[in-house]
Amino acid sequence: MSYFLMPLLLLDKLKNSKINFIKMTKILITGASGQLGSVLTKKLQDKYGVDNVIASDLRINPSFNGCFEVLDATDFDALSEIVLKFEITQIYHLAAILSANGEKIPLNTWDINMKSLFNVLEVSRLTNIDKVFFPSSIAVYGNDAPKTETPQDYVVAPSTVYGISKVAGENWAHYYYERYGLDIRSIRYPGVIGHQSLPGGGTTDYAIDIFHKAVKNEVFECFLEATATLPMIYMDDTIRATIELMEAPKENITVRTSYNLSGMSFSPEQLTQSIQKIYPDFKIVYKPDFRQKIAESWPSSIDDSSARSDWNWKPQFDIDAMASVMIEELKLKYITELKIS
Ligand code: NAD
Repeated sequence: MSYFLMPLLLLDKLKNSKINFIKMTKILITGASGQLGSVLTKKLQDKYGVDNVIASDLRINPSFNGCFEVLDATDFDALSEIVLKFEITQIYHLAAILSANGEKIPLNTWDINMKSLFNVLEVSRLTNIDKVFFPSSIAVYGNDAPKTETPQDYVVAPSTVYGISKVAGENWAHYYYERYGLDIRSIRYPGVIGHQSLPGGGTTDYAIDIFHKAVKNEVFECFLEATATLPMIYMDDTIRATIELMEAPKENITVRTSYNLSGMSFSPEQLTQSIQKIYPDFKIVYKPDFRQKIAESWPSSIDDSSARSDWNWKPQFDIDAMASVMIEELKLKYITELKIS
């Protein structure tokens, strides 16, 4: 059932819950089993306590510890029940279909990305949720945008269905803030690189896969061209930025669509050179596919001065620092796996 057909009973329950909620932070994360969600969940558990963070996804991650609910975020009733049951006060809405996978199923991607966001917006409005986080992406920019230091306010005219859904999401976030006062905050993430989890079908996934091959002493076949420069960010910086934005004083937040965020920018050949400082024999071959065209439509670097001035954003990892940690952590992971098997 959708929110359009919501029974009066549930509506009453939702409205009453505004009065009944004790204002203690209780967080719901959608898409919590994914690349970002699995790391963000742990960080929020450390900060707010395991029992105050409810992770949810279509599937449970086998190594997950904590409170988990199987949830299809496109199901409004199921989402409402969880928000009421756990007296949720904040939602981090990460569930989405990403750029490369989205191009394989454009209409489903629009449907899932938008329906799940509408459900989160509506349930947040009806239950007076304190804060919502919605990740957008550099994919909001299209071919016409300046490639370097793309300005925050440049026209967003994306060339992928994923980008279109993120632009629409940003505008709906802005609408709910203006119309209902919903405190929804957002970041346009660059490509996120981390060792903790595997990527979920984005155009920047190569920058994670390459490290797995390097550590296993294998040749890496790259689906982008050698010079395809894209904005990227290390996982620790991504999670820190997300939490810093959510904790910033409300009056400091001047961007209610989504903040540009910058970590570093590099091409596959520059990343290869950085890896070769540690593994001089590491080899890469280039076999560009449809993802090269997506990459060409995106900026190569981003102007994030609004994030820097509004909530003091500053990245800590450059390409070499990130490469060094990635290799150390993945070496440990593969050695541990070998010992176990
Ligand atoms: P991911 O694909 O790894 O994880 C997304 C999760 O959403 C998956 O676990 C999937 O099972 C879940 N999901 C999909 N449909 C769902 C549904 N209907 N109901 C509930 N769960 C559902 O993606 P990620 O890399 O962790 O990205 C998280 C968010 O950050 C997404 O909104 C994405 O658009 C955004 N983002 C990510 C990157 C990046 O580089 N990873 C860059 C820009 C923006």
